[in-house]
Amino acid sequence: MRYVRQVAGVVILVGTLSLGLAQQATASSANVAALQVALKAIGLYPVAVDGVKGPFTERGVRSLQQRRRLLVDGVPGPQTRHALGRRGRPRLGSRVMHSGQRGWDVAALQFLLQRRGYAPGGVDGGFGPGTRSALVAYQRAAGLTVDGLAGSATISALRQRSGGPTRTPTGPVSFYRPAPGPIGDHFGAPRENGRKHSGIDFPVAYGTLVEAAGVGTTVFAGYNSGGYGNLVVVQHRLGYTTWYAHLSRVTSWSGEHVEGGTRLGYVGSTGHSTGPHLHFEVRLNNVPIDPLPYLLAGTAARAQSGVTVHASCADPAAYRTASIDDCR
Ligand SMILES: [Zn+2]
Repeated sequence: MRYVRQVAGVVILVGTLSLGLAQQATASSANVAALQVALKAIGLYPVAVDGVKGPFTERGVRSLQQRRRLLVDGVPGPQTRHALGRRGRPRLGSRVMHSGQRGWDVAALQFLLQRRGYAPGGVDGGFGPGTRSALVAYQRAAGLTVDGLAGSATISALRQRSGGPTRTPTGPVSFYRPAPGPIGDHFGAPRENGRKHSGIDFPVAYGTLVEAAGVGTTVFAGYNSGGYGNLVVVQHRLGYTTWYAHLSRVTSWSGEHVEGGTRLGYVGSTGHSTGPHLHFEVRLNNVPIDPLPYLLAGTAARAQSGVTVHASCADPAAYRTASIDDCR
């Protein structure tokens, strides 16, 4: 970790990203996920539920509003939620949830559980056995009353941005290294501003080729004003995205199908960065996680095996102004 203290006493990060940026509230992500679930059920949201309000989400809301002759503003207000029927209610926290129930709050609960690695077996708004067992496992780990009921104590614990138990989801997901060479700054490395490093850095030379870490779809390719500079975001299956930041040049485009090793761009120092390096981030449901346990030994070009991450679907670009969340 390298810092420079400026004459004025302002601390800036060198070779890394500034993390003192706006955070996305956990609750709003859960509500966006519930909205996506409701829209998906009526065929108006064709891509993965990820809790990120992007163009597909807004398009779905507008289509619903058009269909129901509401004011078409893309904003999911009370009338729009009412138009979603039982999938648009009740609000998260307005009742104690239990097995057999359906609705907006159940979808939000499932999303919150999944975010912490307690997979409910799908985020679909239906409180089935998978949701119950994920909830019970979470309650046990969190030291809450283990009753399989999602009341106010459980919901407020789940909604907390940081702290509390998390599980690393298991599964056949792994990623090739996006650039060669050793890793510089690791995930979670503390910053002087109190935040933590939300990815890992590859300190490689300006112009080094940056390759996709696995199969997926590029959902953002362009300049990000939140500190990432020239950025490519690839969506993979199971709610994973990979982020490639500070690029000198972007060669991928939104909607491109990529595989491990596909060229995305070249290493640079754009955005909040003061030296060439690749900032690589893995997010699960939009929460940055430590990429290291998922990383294969080499880049795709060097790989011996054909391990791949399969394509999921794309929600193009809520990414242009995305900021870095604090780490869990
Ligand atoms: Zn970094």
